[in-house]
Amino acid sequence: MQKLTEQSPEFIRAIAPYKAGKPVSDVVRELGLDPNTVVKLASNENPLGLGEKAKAAIAQAAMDLGRYPDANGFALKAKLAARHGVKPEQITLGNGSNDVLELAAKAFLTQGTNALFSQYAFAVYPLATQGCGAQSKVVPAVCFTHDLDGFLKAIDTQTHVVFIANPNNPTGTFLPQEKLLAFLKQVPSHVLVVLDEAYNEFLKPEDQYDSTQWVSQFPNLLVSRSFSKAYGLAGLRVGYAVSSVEVADLMNRVRQPFNVNSLALAAAEAAIDDAEFLQQTYEVNLKGLEQIESGLKFLGLEYVPSYGNFVLFKAGNTDDAGMKVFDALQRLGVIVRPVNGYGLPQWLRVSIGLPHENEAFLVALPKALASLQAS
Ligand SMILES: *Cc1c(COP(=O)(O)O)cnc(C)c1O
Repeated sequence: MQKLTEQSPEFIRAIAPYKAGKPVSDVVRELGLDPNTVVKLASNENPLGLGEKAKAAIAQAAMDLGRYPDANGFALKAKLAARHGVKPEQITLGNGSNDVLELAAKAFLTQGTNALFSQYAFAVYPLATQGCGAQSKVVPAVCFTHDLDGFLKAIDTQTHVVFIANPNNPTGTFLPQEKLLAFLKQVPSHVLVVLDEAYNEFLKPEDQYDSTQWVSQFPNLLVSRSFSKAYGLAGLRVGYAVSSVEVADLMNRVRQPFNVNSLALAAAEAAIDDAEFLQQTYEVNLKGLEQIESGLKFLGLEYVPSYGNFVLFKAGNTDDAGMKVFDALQRLGVIVRPVNGYGLPQWLRVSIGLPHENEAFLVALPKALASLQAS
């Protein structure tokens, strides 16, 4: 007799589950800390929370939760289409942009095919790939950055999807638009390029570019954006893709009919129009990034200059340094993110918070680092 769990495909059983940032409630429960003093800088969330316009839209939409959401997200797609100058049929909405990444994988990957992504790239790429029974091909990073020439060399006849995060999480590195365009010109047109831009809104004006404008020239390009980070809607789960109509049509076939809930649709529609909140978020992040990076420099710690709302820094030179400093910081009420799952056991990732939260991190950090010497 077969065991039930052995009926699950081998490639599913081989998946290593995603490790999320630790919730404040876990740390409070485990360490008996005061929830009001615990600072969470672990999941690249917006430290301002969500904007007032989104809040008001959620309150209003809550009155109508007895009904199913609009399965096609008509109003949100119309707004996104207008903003990007594309047709509504080029937009795919997702339960977070994570969902969009999975829909792309589901629509294009199967056993015997492969997806390409960089070493130290976002953890969801291998998960989405493996969930389809496809092979992950990892291209070694160069100085923590995507090596696009390496990608071109690694593409083979079985490559169906290429994932690129720009800026990348957890490294915070960035590829300027010239490099992306040169890459797109050389990628075979039958390979889908998923450009994951979850942190796009944090780029400085001089680095900004609008890749959604490139889709007409490159029908194999899919641009993914999120409402979780700069728009502050992480808890609601909403993101979207801009692609060719043909690619959107395929993704639409594999999505759940009601994959984006009513509150998320309403909040995202309102958030798009809240330019003031977005600007405030940008400024808080820019200041916080300077605060954290100069604090790390002052402590003599190595870090990767970031284009996102988080910084990757080196906790120590031993392979237990990341976890040790993470534990010590947690006991001091500061939650950061271990990145050993990314093959970076000596490093940690800290999200940018409000000024007093960044300060709490910078005050706790030398104490936590001292615990490395003590042991
Ligand atoms: C956070 C993140 C996402 C996913 O965000 P959603 O909450 O699912 O929209 C996608 N890509 C990268 C690189 C991220 O860091």
